[in-house]
Amino acid sequence: PPDVETLGRGTWTLLHSIAASYPESPSTSQQSDLLSFVKLFSKLYPCWVCAEDFKTYLGKEVPRVGSGDEFGKWLCGAHNDVNRKLGKPEFDCSRWQERWRTGWKD
Ligand code: FAD
Repeated sequence: PPDVETLGRGTWTLLHSIAASYPESPSTSQQSDLLSFVKLFSKLYPCWVCAEDFKTYLGKEVPRVGSGDEFGKWLCGAHNDVNRKLGKPEFDCSRWQERWRTGWKD
């Protein structure tokens, strides 16, 4: 199996990419699908200590699935929670779309 870092980088790429392609006005079923996905993800993520902490975070900060930007910012907050825990710099969540959707301007 991949190490925790390689798994993490690939997984964040997938999760932020899902946020970037999620509609601005999702239907009720798209919203419930995303919520189910996040909850199932937290049970299946194959780094068990990571998954436990992520489940705790889900309990404190309910995923916001009302639009792509809302979910992208929620996910950025979840990623920052892990960054803090690991002593990595926090990411400026007002710029998540530049990193994951539209590309940096410079
Ligand atoms: P990563 O954190 O993997 O980030 C990849 C890229 O995303 C960065 O280069 C940056 O451009 C961008 N980015 C950074 N922060 C944000 C943000 N807040 N919002 C948007 N984009 C951002 N590892 C552990 O050792 N212990 C854990 O408990 C743990 N829990 C995890 C829980 C989850 C749900 C996931 C997906 C991963 C977890 N990891 C954990 C892995 C860890 O988060 C990193 O993926 C890993 O350490 C590699 O880090 P990295 O420095 O390459 O960048």
